[in-house]
Amino acid sequence: MHPVLRHIDPQVIARDTLEFVRVRSETGDEGAGSFFLAKLLEREGFEVRMEDAAPGRPNVYARVAGRGGGRALLLNGHTDTIPVGHCDAPEQEGGWVIGRGAEDMKGGLVAMVHAAAALHRAGVRLAGDLWLTGVVGHETPAGKKEGTRRLCELLRREEIRADAIVIAEGPQAIWSASLGSAIFTVEIRSPRGAIHTIKVPYAENPARWVGRLLAEFERLEGEFAAAPPHPLCGREQLNVGIVAAGDYPNRLPTPAAVTGTWRWRPGKTHAAVRAQLEEICGRLGAESGLSFEALWQAQREPFETPREHAVVRALERAGQTVAGRTPEVIGMALVGDGNLFVHDGGVPSVYYGPAHETAHSDHERVSVERLAECAGVYALAAMEFCGV
Ligand SMILES: [Zn+2]
Repeated sequence: MHPVLRHIDPQVIARDTLEFVRVRSETGDEGAGSFFLAKLLEREGFEVRMEDAAPGRPNVYARVAGRGGGRALLLNGHTDTIPVGHCDAPEQEGGWVIGRGAEDMKGGLVAMVHAAAALHRAGVRLAGDLWLTGVVGHETPAGKKEGTRRLCELLRREEIRADAIVIAEGPQAIWSASLGSAIFTVEIRSPRGAIHTIKVPYAENPARWVGRLLAEFERLEGEFAAAPPHPLCGREQLNVGIVAAGDYPNRLPTPAAVTGTWRWRPGKTHAAVRAQLEEICGRLGAESGLSFEALWQAQREPFETPREHAVVRALERAGQTVAGRTPEVIGMALVGDGNLFVHDGGVPSVYYGPAHETAHSDHERVSVERLAECAGVYALAAMEFCGV
């Protein structure tokens, strides 16, 4: 066994995770979660700085200073959870910690602290800095990524300097690529206003043009399905969740609105996606004499951290040492903070976590054994990446 791993105690990890899960820290009111993380870091002897990303909602930063000459690694997680709702009550059952936030992602944050503590206890002094950080405002729609955006600002201004980021959540694999995504709404308006339908031919009815727009989407989806998928995160996808128009049987349904999500592959940009929708809106607008307007929100560019990147290699080697097998390199359609750290923070990022199985369910739980493995992987990866 690697000597550093002897300083990782699964029982203490389980106890800390359960205690953390007992602290309610729902998005928007996650201050108590950040304070718990800060106290945990302080207990292990790390100096902590807290900074409000929004009033009463602090991010947490701890820097373990390297002796110089190495790369800096930043470990990160979010201290908020989705609403507790009807999730199973916090408890430890066998090798599992149960309760809201156990997997997503208080367990990962605890593993991150234990990784740094193990290095400290083993007397390992890294060459580069190791940053241990927690952010608020992750879970949508209540969260607007307040904490993540604030940390991105600090990274961009190099007030926090990092050469790579590992986010301590997700499956026990190196998740190194995500699709981009954005929510769009197309509003179709008639210049005639909401008047009696007897005065307006069906050919000029916004509802009829909703049909044409949906047919265009079907055509695009066919093209996306026919294109070769991204090797890690699959194919581009477009889907619709809300179609809304009309309030009376014989009143013109204007405006009519179609809202959905567009997810695109690494290599494509939101500007390109926007241009595609603009082209459709322009064409249908000219044909119909109606106004077609595309609105966008929650845009996230895709990201892909190359397989050859030192942080991927470090996690591969660490995983091999800790668990006896090289972790898989994967991608997901799911969009997370990695997209922001790469594009807004300018720092290559990957995820490596205990599991992505029960997050957001009413039976959220996390395996203590996996958390201990994560702690070991973070510690050894930091040694490899930052140098000793
Ligand atoms: Zn999460």
